[in-house]
Amino acid sequence: MNDLQEVAVPFFDLQGQLADLRPEFEAALDEIYRSATFIMGPQVERFEEAFADFCGASHCVSVGSGTAALKLTLQALEIGPGDEVIVPANTYIASALAVSLVGARPVPVDIDQYYHMDPALVEQAITPRTKALMPVHLYGQAMPMTGPLRLAASHGLKVVEDACQAHGAIIEGRRAGTIGDAGCFSFYPSKNLGALGDGGAVVTNDAGLAEAVRLRRDFGQRKKYEHLIKGENSRLDTIQAAFLLAKLKHLTAWNDRRRALAASYDRELAALGVRPPLRRAADAHVYHLYVIEFPNRDRARAFLQDEGIHTGVHYPVPFHRQPAYADLDLPAGSLPKAERSCLRVLSLPMFPEMTDSQLGRVVRAIRSYLNGEASAGYKVLSGATV
Ligand SMILES: *Cc1c(COP(=O)(O)O)cnc(C)c1O
Repeated sequence: MNDLQEVAVPFFDLQGQLADLRPEFEAALDEIYRSATFIMGPQVERFEEAFADFCGASHCVSVGSGTAALKLTLQALEIGPGDEVIVPANTYIASALAVSLVGARPVPVDIDQYYHMDPALVEQAITPRTKALMPVHLYGQAMPMTGPLRLAASHGLKVVEDACQAHGAIIEGRRAGTIGDAGCFSFYPSKNLGALGDGGAVVTNDAGLAEAVRLRRDFGQRKKYEHLIKGENSRLDTIQAAFLLAKLKHLTAWNDRRRALAASYDRELAALGVRPPLRRAADAHVYHLYVIEFPNRDRARAFLQDEGIHTGVHYPVPFHRQPAYADLDLPAGSLPKAERSCLRVLSLPMFPEMTDSQLGRVVRAIRSYLNGEASAGYKVLSGATV
């Protein structure tokens, strides 16, 4: 191993967690191996109950992915062709794709300084075709829902929360995902609660909506060979439910560790003159990602990479500027704040098993980057995007 590899800090690393949980995972796997109930085994319902309980919601329906959770929820709410759903311009593209997959049109609105859909802009985006709002609790920070709920009530809209990055975040006293008509979660391996493969869930307090999603995820059947609607196949594997049950017990501690790491980053970066990410309240953020901004992001990222610090960009191009959404016909500059933030955002290494010394290495590398840029006469310190 050379020096660089020795000090390299991964952006995200599951190895420590996988090693710790290996005995539990193997026991769970052994049980399922013996029973050979790979689909809809008892662990699926046990996980659904545990996750509903964790969130403080009446119902949880597990599904095949976060995208499926969003799509099945929109379908269960009877949103489809000719309808519009308002989404933030800065999100993972799956939020918008779920809307497109049901045949509706995602309508992006620009973001506020927390990278959330700007409530002031949502109302202007409402048309007679608007059927739902899809607030995204981006980067692990829950956005206040009072505004969206009020708008939804006065315009007769549904509210589907994309909580795929915000397992456990709390806003206005409630968990992200439990405030609107439904909340959608992803258990993609790198999420705060991640399976060992794909998975997702819908949580809701609406029994009828839960039942509609339950039917849709399993060929529209209530009982075997009794098909009430045209559903599809999007279930959480028994094996993944068992792994998630084992991991759920650790979620609060992992989120606390992420917050402690974020507090260290905040302090160290502020001392260097870099603005830490804005936080709405202590328990609102579970730091799925720790995102800062640099005016010369790509140069900062390349410098850190050379120092062995691996970073991410979430996201380099807003969905309305992707080739897939050329049909929206939204030219550059349409959503200026989101577009500008995409050029500046940089996600620093963040995962619960990250050590204080790894964090120290990240901060030292950022300090040398800033020193180097300053002596070369570049403007390096970031103000806010908006
Ligand atoms: C991960 C993610 C999704 C999609 O979840 P998958 O399980 O990968 O389908 C949707 N929205 C957001 C904001 C996400 O981060």
